[in-house]
Amino acid sequence: MRIDVVTLFPEFVRQCAGIGVVGRAQERGLLQVETWNPRDFATDNYRSVDDRPYGGGPGMVMMIDPLRAALAAVRAAAPEPAHVIYLSPQGARLTQRRVAKLARMPRFTLLCGRYEGVDERLLAHAVDEELSIGDYVLSGGELAAAVLIDAVGRLQEGALNDAQSARQDSFSDGLLDCPHYTRPEQDALGEVPPVLLSGDHAAIRRWRLKQSLGRTWLRRPDLLARLTLDAEARQLLEE
Ligand code: SAM
Repeated sequence: MRIDVVTLFPEFVRQCAGIGVVGRAQERGLLQVETWNPRDFATDNYRSVDDRPYGGGPGMVMMIDPLRAALAAVRAAAPEPAHVIYLSPQGARLTQRRVAKLARMPRFTLLCGRYEGVDERLLAHAVDEELSIGDYVLSGGELAAAVLIDAVGRLQEGALNDAQSARQDSFSDGLLDCPHYTRPEQDALGEVPPVLLSGDHAAIRRWRLKQSLGRTWLRRPDLLARLTLDAEARQLLEE
């Protein structure tokens, strides 16, 4: 899949997308991240991309023209339609469900705001959806873009060395993940739960499911209201 990012800080986005699982996904040809700097599309000598807000008040606003030209260049760069997402604290909250849907798209574009944000007319005409990574205000959309690229990139088939690990992650089956343990078996901090050493795979799956259910009930009871357990999970609990 391909993600185009319109940003005043392309190096930052490229660096974030170049490390770990997502960097590996790019190396494996599963994901392509391209950046576009609106400054390269500015037409004045100062390469201006922002101006004072009409009506007065603090801060600057990103202008229509450089962004319109950058988005036109993005559209022209690949045949698939470039679904445009504006990263904004006013957008719908990003969830794992939305991430999973985006991960199945062949292509989308991320628009990163700066300053007080983007001229509303461009948002109204060029943006298909707005997404927020949480109820707080960042100084720019780049960190939010990096979050989204990471979450989507790791879901590309072949990005994780073990695809099973994404399936057992929190939220993917509607529950929080179970606790994990590794060596040593015995430590001053405590012991590994004996069932994990038993070699009884059905018992281990049942224990993990119960841990996930318990954690979700304690930490995120809101998730349980929307939960439908699949047939395998229901059978495990009945055994
Ligand atoms: N004046 C805007 C408001 O209150 O809605 C905030 C502008 S913010 C300082 C600058 C840019 O950071 C925004 O245009 C947006 O792209 C990005 N941004 C800030 N908080 C964000 C969040 N929670 N999620 C996604 N993007 C965010």
